[in-house]
Amino acid sequence: MRTAISVFCLFFSPLALYAQPDVDARVEKLLARMTLEEKLGQLGAFVQDQPEFQPALQKGLVGSMLHNGGAAQTNQLQRSIVAGSRLKIPVLLGYDVIHGYRTIFPIPLAIASSWDPQLAEMSARVAAHEARAAGIRWTYAPMVDIARDARWGRIAEGAGEDPLLGSTMASAYVRGFQSEPGFLACAKHYAAYGAAEAGRDYNAVEMSERTLREVYLPPFHAAVDAGVATLMSAFESVNGVPASANRHLLDDILRKEWKFKGFVVSDWDAVAELINHGVAANKREAAARALSAGVDVDMWDNSYAMLREGDVPMSVIDRAVRRVLRMKFRAGLFDDPYTSESAAPLILHRDAARRVAQKSIVLLKNENALLPLPKTGRAIAVVGPLADSKEDMLGPWSAQGKAEECVTPAEAIGATVPVEQADVIIAILGESRHMSGEAASRTSLDLPDDQQKLLESLVATGKPVILVVMSGRPLAISWAAEHVGAIVQAWFLGTESGHALADVLFGDVNPSGRLPVTVPRATGQAPIYYNHLPTGRPADPKDKYTSKYLDVPIGPLYPFGFGLSYTKFEYSDIRVNGLKVSATIRNSGDRPGEEIVQMYIRDPVASVSRPVKELKGFQRVALKPGESRRVEFNITRRDLQFWSNNGWIAEPGEFKVWIGPSSATGLEGTFALQQRARSAQ
Ligand code: BGC
Repeated sequence: MRTAISVFCLFFSPLALYAQPDVDARVEKLLARMTLEEKLGQLGAFVQDQPEFQPALQKGLVGSMLHNGGAAQTNQLQRSIVAGSRLKIPVLLGYDVIHGYRTIFPIPLAIASSWDPQLAEMSARVAAHEARAAGIRWTYAPMVDIARDARWGRIAEGAGEDPLLGSTMASAYVRGFQSEPGFLACAKHYAAYGAAEAGRDYNAVEMSERTLREVYLPPFHAAVDAGVATLMSAFESVNGVPASANRHLLDDILRKEWKFKGFVVSDWDAVAELINHGVAANKREAAARALSAGVDVDMWDNSYAMLREGDVPMSVIDRAVRRVLRMKFRAGLFDDPYTSESAAPLILHRDAARRVAQKSIVLLKNENALLPLPKTGRAIAVVGPLADSKEDMLGPWSAQGKAEECVTPAEAIGATVPVEQADVIIAILGESRHMSGEAASRTSLDLPDDQQKLLESLVATGKPVILVVMSGRPLAISWAAEHVGAIVQAWFLGTESGHALADVLFGDVNPSGRLPVTVPRATGQAPIYYNHLPTGRPADPKDKYTSKYLDVPIGPLYPFGFGLSYTKFEYSDIRVNGLKVSATIRNSGDRPGEEIVQMYIRDPVASVSRPVKELKGFQRVALKPGESRRVEFNITRRDLQFWSNNGWIAEPGEFKVWIGPSSATGLEGTFALQQRARSAQ
């Protein structure tokens, strides 16, 4: 029995996926037979409608491609390679399966609001399964970029601002996607893409090595530890060196420190864009730079095909080809590159999508218990541009999701009345689906178009107003926070949007989502995030010369980690015992609910300034009315480390710790770390 278990563990452990002597031998055998042109062909990722694509494919010179044509077309492609090319190396077909393939789950920022890695994992498993049935073997996901600036539209695609939550979600997605046999994930965009200056997409990034290591890299490291097969190098420059030619990121850290064994694909055209970055004079030079730095595959720009003997050492080319071939073996392509064309027609995974969507919703305000609404006896108006827009329910990056398969809030809530006849108004406002995602940065975080006016006119009716915000980023809804009775942050919830929302609004589901990002009061606060450094002059309303604004209070509108429930949770009796900290959480309300208990720390005196708070643990706890539970966290040395000139260190001394319902409040305790510790992470 023991043997059986250990064999099972070896087979399924991420490391075992790389250490396959048999595969290595087959890779070497194949590599030895390849010409330079064939090798470079394996390093090119094409898009099907590129003119160079067809002739290259025929000759077996297309390593991978962005494609979604269904099983039959996939098979046709593989057949033409097998029939026409010398070495018959199947092509790896990739696609952006970001939050679902046909069944669309909530956007990743919404799933992060569930703080539930199991849900993230399940959503990825379903997405991979649906995509695989269409012949896809590789998704350009998960996006694990930390985002502290809501102006950046791609904040929608990741898990928000926190490295621990981001890392937890990153590994969950990798596990979920790669649980589908022969399916590869791709953690992107390596690295620090989310820190684009001024929140403008593709813009340059300047950041300290400490911030890079402590905030932006951990989710990538977590993805690598979870066995992610590939990474995508980012568009932007980091401290003057483009991420797609950044040896420090791609080789020193990723390969040498983290021991990543998969391959790195550039983002779309990012190799040729080295010319625009001003670090290469032409495509051939750009190719040499990117490949030498550790970008194994170039996406779309076909630059690597321009390399000639001697531009880079053959060992560098071979290294990249090995990595690609190894992953093709891992995807099972050499054993069977085809996909069944007679598989049963796809059935939407509506229950799974609804379950994830229910837990992604965050209740931000609920004055006088306006919510949940009674199911009968009230005339309800459901209004606003997003109330019945099927298309927008999908959110950005919707793969093969179909608008007509989405359920809108208006459909789910059913019979609604015009505003004048309503007892209560549900205003579904926010962004259209194209206002977030790639190339969708905004200089304003306000409700777009005339929606603010619409909201004000609804409030002016004197009827109770429930604001549901659908968006791919946190919006600065300060006026609403003051004037409407209830606010629900719904993000984009996918196929089952309307049902999940109705479940929460009418109390079939008690909301349990918590913010994975800070909600600002005004756009001018961006970037705003909870784990910032202290200032020498903390805000003091009585003292002009302190760190604040003249026009808006310094704090967030709603803090990171915040979210309400229809019941109440009370925290008491924090106790610290060595590096264990615990507190009692009690459901003091009248309905069952789930609380996300959060643990934060601070190193108040250190050799460098440390963040005012850092999330170091969280647990989802389900409690019946009147029930209480002792929740315990183990703090590890690793939790206390920071990046110094000598690597990771934890300094002895006293630390603060909080257990609470958000980054803004909690019970406080202290503990001490005794001796100096240094270790590698
Ligand atoms: C995006 C990537 C995406 C790729 C392929 C790029 O423009 O930045 O996130 O995976 O296109 O569609």
